[in-house]
Amino acid sequence: MQNEISLCAPAKVNLRLEVLGKRANGYHELRTWIYPISLGDELHIKRLASSKIVLSCFHSELPLGEENLAYRAATLFLKETGLSVGVKIEITKRIPVAAGLGGGSSDAAAVLKGMNVLLGAKVSQKELMEMGERIGADVPFFILGKGAMMGGRGERLLQPLPPLELWMVLVNPGRPLYTQKVYQKVKEGLTKNRRDNKILMFPQDLEKMGNFLCNDLEAVALELMPVIEVIKKRLCEVGAIAALMTGSGPTVFGLFPGQQEANRAAKEMKMEEGWISFVAHTTSDL
Ligand code: ATP
Repeated sequence: MQNEISLCAPAKVNLRLEVLGKRANGYHELRTWIYPISLGDELHIKRLASSKIVLSCFHSELPLGEENLAYRAATLFLKETGLSVGVKIEITKRIPVAAGLGGGSSDAAAVLKGMNVLLGAKVSQKELMEMGERIGADVPFFILGKGAMMGGRGERLLQPLPPLELWMVLVNPGRPLYTQKVYQKVKEGLTKNRRDNKILMFPQDLEKMGNFLCNDLEAVALELMPVIEVIKKRLCEVGAIAALMTGSGPTVFGLFPGQQEANRAAKEMKMEEGWISFVAHTTSDL
């Protein structure tokens, strides 16, 4: 019997994020093309004899109880499977928090997947995605673990996307931007032209990717954090084919033809105090 398991909880980038409108319940209807990336948190889960959940996370600002999405995922998994065991979860946080990179949701998905294997629970992927949806809209995508076009609030799989390796430089200004704050500011006017829901071809080459990239939340996030525009400009100055904010921001990614170009750009880019950068690529199967 396996007693422990180590997993990577990847971050994500939204290559395109459309806000289609607002639902009666106040949630925004989205259509988004997302890929997991090679930047990720590390998780280590150990089986405990007693039926408690112990979380340690080497990050000063994150809660360690039910408010942590990883803890919530563990509680839900034990409740849904009826297993009376406990787990110790250690998270080494590498993904910046409240950055538009989906770190919390990915940790939660990794806990669901990891506990499923560790405890031999044999819960199907579909059921894990349903469990994940109760924790957060991005969790089902991370359960899936590969490129996908998602709808609803982001929780509904519309279509899987082809394997793709896009190299990028990600730059985070070192300050959080809370998703809720961005959505509060999204105005109806911004979404009117999106109601047509037209069919879009997903580009297979990098040249066409530039025109495909789009984030309807970017304009609003920019009002809250103008530095996003500065980062985009700087990434283009060091040769990015295109640069875009991911999710609800404020992290920006710039696309490059390959690893060498991305590494060179990350070295050359003019950074300000507090900014953090990463070189990463989209991944397909985890
Ligand atoms: P999204 O793009 O899905 O909105 P994000 O990348 O902008 O997510 P996260 O890093 O997931 O944001 O964190 C958002 C909030 O979730 C923060 O307020 C944070 O305190 C809380 N949170 C709870 N658990 C975690 C966790 N394990 N890792 C990161 N944040 C967490």
